[in-house]
Amino acid sequence: MKAWQASLLTLYPEMFPGFLANAVTGRGLRAGIWSYNTLNIRDFAKDKHRSVDSSPAGGGPGMVMKPEVVDAALKVAVKNDQPLIYLSPHGRIFDQALAIELANGPGVTMLCGRFEGVDQRVIDKWHPIEVSLGDFVLSGGEPAALVMLDSIIRLLPGVLGDQNSLDQESFVDGLLEYPHYTRPAKWDNRAVPEILLSGHHGKIAAWRKAQSESRTRNSRPDLWTDYMVKNKKNSA
Ligand code: SAH
Repeated sequence: MKAWQASLLTLYPEMFPGFLANAVTGRGLRAGIWSYNTLNIRDFAKDKHRSVDSSPAGGGPGMVMKPEVVDAALKVAVKNDQPLIYLSPHGRIFDQALAIELANGPGVTMLCGRFEGVDQRVIDKWHPIEVSLGDFVLSGGEPAALVMLDSIIRLLPGVLGDQNSLDQESFVDGLLEYPHYTRPAKWDNRAVPEILLSGHHGKIAAWRKAQSESRTRNSRPDLWTDYMVKNKKNSA
């Protein structure tokens, strides 16, 4: 089977695979379930200083990634069968649904911005999917790419020891996951909820579902509203 492929356009190729070399994602990499390649955007700078950035048209602080340099890198990196993502605080917010969609494909090409970002004309020409990690500003796209890849790679068949754990996770059914407990049954004067020790699978499942619902209602009213609409329930 062909490995799921991450192609990374970056000014800092040494940031990859970073922490993806550890734990389950690292095992998946060594097992050939996924692989990655980096393209150093600086290699496409043609002037003698190999400059990749220039001051913003119209003035103002910071620097902007030069269009012809990023364009030349994209011409080499972009493959027709792989979606192109530009990590950007202006994009749609990354979520589990997008992680699942990308995991089901052949891989992804990711353009990591630096400075104030990429000249807008490159975005207009290549129309990448702009994806944000959340409403905060990072110093570059690389940490966002690594986080997104972590959540995608753990979905690839064979990466997690127990694939079943994927079905029950937070966000899969629009709810946060129920709380977890393990041995000992009593710790620090706190008991594991009795129902979990009852051996009654039906009751345990119902308890977990109720916990998922109350957690979601309390900490994520936005998810709860969507869930209620989807399940056509009346708000309690
Ligand atoms: N001046 C820009 C921020 C540039 S941050 C603004 O105010 O919108 C530099 C680069 O970091 C961006 O080009 C992008 O690739 C990356 N980046 C910053 N925040 C991000 C986020 N929340 N999600 C994904 N990428 C982000």
